[in-house]
Amino acid sequence: MSALFERLQPYLDKAYAYRAALVMLNWDNSTAAPKEAIEFTSKAIGILSGESYNTLINEDVKELLTELSKDEEQELLTAYEKAIVKNMNKEYKNLEAIPPQEFQEFQMILAKAYPVWEEAKNTNNYSAYAPVLEEIIAYIKKFAGYKQKENQKLYDVILDEYEEGFTMEILDDFFGKLREALVPLVQEIRKKPDHISIDCLRKTYDIETQKKLSRFMAEYIGFDFNRGVMAESEHPFTTNLHNHDVRITNHYQSGKLEDAIFSVVHEGGHALYEMDIDDAITMSPIGGGTSMGMHESQSRFYENNLARSREFWVPIFDKVKEFFPKELEGVSHEEFYRAINYSAPGLIRTQADELTYSFHVMIRYEIEKMIFDGDVDVQELPKIWNAKYEEYLGVTPDSDTTGILQDMHWSGGSFGYFPSYALGSAIAAQLYHYMEGVMPIKQYLEEGNLAPIREFLKEHIHKYGGSKNTQELLQETTGEKFNPEYYIKYLTEKFTELYEL
Ligand SMILES: [Zn+2]
Repeated sequence: MSALFERLQPYLDKAYAYRAALVMLNWDNSTAAPKEAIEFTSKAIGILSGESYNTLINEDVKELLTELSKDEEQELLTAYEKAIVKNMNKEYKNLEAIPPQEFQEFQMILAKAYPVWEEAKNTNNYSAYAPVLEEIIAYIKKFAGYKQKENQKLYDVILDEYEEGFTMEILDDFFGKLREALVPLVQEIRKKPDHISIDCLRKTYDIETQKKLSRFMAEYIGFDFNRGVMAESEHPFTTNLHNHDVRITNHYQSGKLEDAIFSVVHEGGHALYEMDIDDAITMSPIGGGTSMGMHESQSRFYENNLARSREFWVPIFDKVKEFFPKELEGVSHEEFYRAINYSAPGLIRTQADELTYSFHVMIRYEIEKMIFDGDVDVQELPKIWNAKYEEYLGVTPDSDTTGILQDMHWSGGSFGYFPSYALGSAIAAQLYHYMEGVMPIKQYLEEGNLAPIREFLKEHIHKYGGSKNTQELLQETTGEKFNPEYYIKYLTEKFTELYEL
């Protein structure tokens, strides 16, 4: 380790300790803490967040980073150390671009926006929410303007924060291809609503047994309970202290068996990513997955490409039936496979099936683009939203509650974040396609041998954490950058066969 980097290390360690404390408090708030705790606990969270920020954002660290960025110092650094310096420099630049006073004003607007959005959603009153949404958008535009480089478009600045290098040019191409290939497919499927029956998933499934089944599923895909735990929360999520303490949650509905199954496999995919990050960086600023899109690719790879395939259930479907012998009596493997792949356009993103999911994301992307790259009246957004749902999915929201008010993201200032969900699915398909060429992936699934699949992802993606970005990882793993064709081909083939089109 270079002598200079050694001087940076104590700051990193301290910042990590604060992060760990914050992770624990947030985990506890979502899983175990009593409902009324947050009002007071949030004080501790606020103080710790401030301390965590001050640990890394100060003159001493800034000076160290400047020195560490010089060519002669860079030569002394390991690849990981270089990546840490690069990552921190980027963070610095972002934070320094915004005047602290304006950043604080923005935080205050966000704090009041959440309850306004919640109330508007509950009372189907978009016009009560529009003014605060407008304020948020104005700030995001201003902040992006501070960071904007010459000839860079404003929305590209915003997109880059979530997925480095993924510009409107790439996303327009991606969503354009998706729209062209999949809108007709969805329309064909709409004509056959009874082609697949989901009755076998709609019986009454005992919750305690579902919990046991979820644990079985997590273990089956490789989640190590010596280095991880599973709890219950309203919305499933994954978090971690480091690669030896990865935590997932699940939720259960007695009348929807697939919900808990695919949530645990999805979160399990996120968890395997974190568990397989190199020990050397797991407690550093590059110790997490490299981006939202790449993280989502790993969860969806497990959830969709693996667990929604026929082959995946060959070795374990009988085992699943042992959990629910009465409810699943007489249900065949094929019936089950078809039921878990039932597709029907709906209004709610979080309830969408594998095929229609990306449409929900595409609609949000197009609207965000209109906001940041065009000129649109915020009051008009519900109309635009509804028209797009009708055009792409053939469904029209009966209220703004089930329309534009359904997601909390915008009220939290998260613009540019949605595309990552769709990118995740497309990246998963690209990786799967490549892996099929280098290993008998379907055969492994049929044999219940998931280890080589996980090992591949660990060696090519997971272990690097945030030291390489999405495009770099894709290029090095598959020999090409992001390519949406595999995703379109995968969905087209799968659903054409399922629906006999
Ligand atoms: Zn996810």
